[in-house]
Amino acid sequence: MPPETVEVRRSSRRRRTVSAYRDGDKTIVLLPAGLSRTDEEQWVRRMLDRLAAKEQRRRPSDAELLERARDLSTRYLGGKADPVSVRWVDNQQHRWGSCTPDNGTIRISTRLRGMPAWVVDYVIMHELVHLLVPSHGPRFWALVEQYPKAERARGFLEGFSMAANGAPEEC
Ligand SMILES: [Zn+2]
Repeated sequence: MPPETVEVRRSSRRRRTVSAYRDGDKTIVLLPAGLSRTDEEQWVRRMLDRLAAKEQRRRPSDAELLERARDLSTRYLGGKADPVSVRWVDNQQHRWGSCTPDNGTIRISTRLRGMPAWVVDYVIMHELVHLLVPSHGPRFWALVEQYPKAERARGFLEGFSMAANGAPEEC
């Protein structure tokens, strides 16, 4: 892993609150101005730990992905989609997910790690429906729309892709 690039921004208008977020491959830490060097270092370390812990909670294992896929299938597809495995893969630069209907396997891009659970669930749902309907026709979308946040998740992912590549992606 490359060393983390951390940018500390100090604001005199920011009195008590500190916060941290990722911006591409950088991490921005917002601090009030006027902290001592030692206090500042401690705060930065604390905020990086907190951010990493939050992201860890958003990184389910392959087993948890499969469990979520089965739950989504039960809730929204009457249990008709029956995946045998759902795995993270890091070789999908242009797709969020893919599947092989013949053997019931689903692959999810590691680029989704750290994204909200309802967005990851949408991609799982999309691939679950592909196990039943291979192409993106009206029957496909009608099933995907059973997932209540489908449209919102698509908007989220499109916005993310546009920001990153200037073009929407497929799955
Ligand atoms: Zn698709």
